[in-house]
Amino acid sequence: MRLLILYREELQVFPALGNHDYWPQDQLPASVSEVYNAVADFWKPWLTDEAVNTLRKGGFYTQIVQPSITSPPLRIISLNTVLYYSPNNVTLNMTDPAHQLEWLEHILEMAYQNKEKVYVIGHVPVGYLPFVRNTTAMRQFYNERLIAIFRKYSGVIAGQFFGHTHRDSIMLLLDTKGKPVNSLFVAPAVTPVKSLWQVDSNNPGVRLYQYDPLSYSILNLWQFYLNLTEANMKNESDWKLEYIMTKAYGIKDLKPESLYGMVKQLSTPHSTLFPKYYNNYFVSYDGNKLCEEHCRVTQLCAIKYLDFTSYTDCIGNEDTSQYG
Ligand SMILES: [Zn+2]
Repeated sequence: MRLLILYREELQVFPALGNHDYWPQDQLPASVSEVYNAVADFWKPWLTDEAVNTLRKGGFYTQIVQPSITSPPLRIISLNTVLYYSPNNVTLNMTDPAHQLEWLEHILEMAYQNKEKVYVIGHVPVGYLPFVRNTTAMRQFYNERLIAIFRKYSGVIAGQFFGHTHRDSIMLLLDTKGKPVNSLFVAPAVTPVKSLWQVDSNNPGVRLYQYDPLSYSILNLWQFYLNLTEANMKNESDWKLEYIMTKAYGIKDLKPESLYGMVKQLSTPHSTLFPKYYNNYFVSYDGNKLCEEHCRVTQLCAIKYLDFTSYTDCIGNEDTSQYG
């Protein structure tokens, strides 16, 4: 924490609130709260007055960043997706907690008018969970609303970044005609999760993205990890490069069309890339872990289909065509 305070005025950081940043956990409120006020005060050195203002009211904000004088401005939208998280009882029955959806549409429309590019960041991801069927991380109603907004403004959004699952996965937003329009990334966590009913875990990971300084398209990512088994044996931590995404999957960049090519490859019956993707999913925690057909279909449908209708079709097709 001291290190963070030391650097927070020199290093620009764009934080997003998570479900464990509140007590009782997951219950982030849709109005001003002590916690929102405390984080707003703490994050103030990085944020504009307008950003601090919305942060106090609902835990979300937007801010323009200009990485260099030759770069066009980039807009960060930090969403409080914990307002939509299924275990959040405070927002149950609310159609638009803290008016965040209305605000989001307004900001995206403004970004469109001003020809800005946008990165969306948030903790709880949109779409379906890759390890269990028919389950969205957020309430389905909110997921549908968000997907509709993201589709409408996909031309403005250059990248979407989430966390929460502790695992490494990608998603591809397709428009209503099936064309890939947005690349979404779920970054693995620094903290591993392991519970009594969950034998799988993950190694700690951090990543570095490369983007095009003009279009803000995502070009590549370097995933670093700590092999926990090894660290415990040697009693020292040795962070290593786990993979470089373009290299690992044989694609030229991470734009939606390129990710679509990768996903097509992952979807072929005996894809040699899929075991690699699944190993990276756990941050190389257990290289021998198999993902048989049921598991594979669950993963693939979650990668490609983020809304209820297309996801249900994907799962349903698989059930009736081969295993019905
Ligand atoms: Zn979380």
